[in-house]
Amino acid sequence: MISEFVYAQPVKIFFGQGEFKKLGAVLEEFGVTRAVLCCGRHFAPEAEKLMAEDRRIVAAFSRVEQNPQLSGIEETTRLCREKGADGVIGIGGGSSLDTAKFAAAVAPNEGDALDYYEGRRALVKERRLPVIAVPTTAGTGSEVTQVSVVSHGTEKKTINNPAFMPAAAIVDPVLTLGVPPRTTMNTGLDAMAHALEGYWSKNHQPIPDLMAVEAVRLILENLEKTWRDGSDLEARTNMSRAALLGGLSFALPKTAASHACSYPLSEDYHLPHGEACAFTLDSLVRINADARLEELCSRVGLSGTEELAERIRALKKLGGLRSRLSDLGKVDLDKLCRDCAVHPLMNNNPVKLDEAALRRMFEALA
Ligand code: NAD
Repeated sequence: MISEFVYAQPVKIFFGQGEFKKLGAVLEEFGVTRAVLCCGRHFAPEAEKLMAEDRRIVAAFSRVEQNPQLSGIEETTRLCREKGADGVIGIGGGSSLDTAKFAAAVAPNEGDALDYYEGRRALVKERRLPVIAVPTTAGTGSEVTQVSVVSHGTEKKTINNPAFMPAAAIVDPVLTLGVPPRTTMNTGLDAMAHALEGYWSKNHQPIPDLMAVEAVRLILENLEKTWRDGSDLEARTNMSRAALLGGLSFALPKTAASHACSYPLSEDYHLPHGEACAFTLDSLVRINADARLEELCSRVGLSGTEELAERIRALKKLGGLRSRLSDLGKVDLDKLCRDCAVHPLMNNNPVKLDEAALRRMFEALA
């Protein structure tokens, strides 16, 4: 039983259908007069329109890729410096938000992003540009975390630093209407992983726990609906709320084994982030099952952890997500177990999982 905790959540959140229309007012509120916009290709035409409509948006980097590379951060940083930007707008999935957050923390400082990525220079939270984070997927919760996940070559690294915390988040479910079904399922299960891992994390605490329970309930009720009918705005709205709550559930406690395993699965087998987290999530529900998890299940109307694991497995199957080792091609199981075991997030799992335990888990997925 945890009796002492410190809870802080510094991001001002604007949530609701149509809230994106408030972007101009939010720029004003945060004193942004020269913003660089950062997004992926799907939003590039909209970015052009926004720049034409609002002269405070002075440049856009609109080529963020999935599992964003450091080179995109370098490019956004360069634009910020060149244009004398005093704010960054990140619009897109976690890849775009993480790129915006990293560039905003580097731009007003000496050196380039690689210096900070490799730890030669230290980020300072007092010296960063304000970020307005606008998610267009319902998954990562990056709009409320101080995490940026970035790849450099084949290495994918999570950097956790207060300098990455956005100033504001505009969560408008209307922006998620165009997400294709497979990405809808991947990102929705990423949100499920955030809620469950925040909840069972060794560092869990009461306020995020409440949000985790609500996120799991919303995902169980709405993810399949958004996968079947992407235009269902009510279900999309509930999933955006779930993803936001999922982000808040893990922002302080941090994630655990499913995220630890997701890194080798993304790096070596090229699974998108949500699919990589979901790969082990139902197995970990069974491994981490305890009285607290049973309580979560009863609060979301499930008979117990076995039903929760089955519901996750069924969602993966419905979405066509890879879920067996044989789906990954030729697997180096020794390396996979070794890499998962040494990931720092593995220490946050409530049940200790060494290489042998991980091997048993993966072999059951053969
Ligand atoms: P993503 O940002 O990589 O986007 C996936 C694809 O969907 C891209 O092709 C993108 O262009 C497209 N897309 C996004 N929104 C769309 C829309 N509305 N309509 C049509 N297409 C759209 O995917 P993601 O799952 O949101 O983010 C994954 C990244 O976020 C990974 O790098 C992951 O490691 C990271 N992540 C970060 C945090 C954090 O706290 N910072 C948390 C979890 C994951």
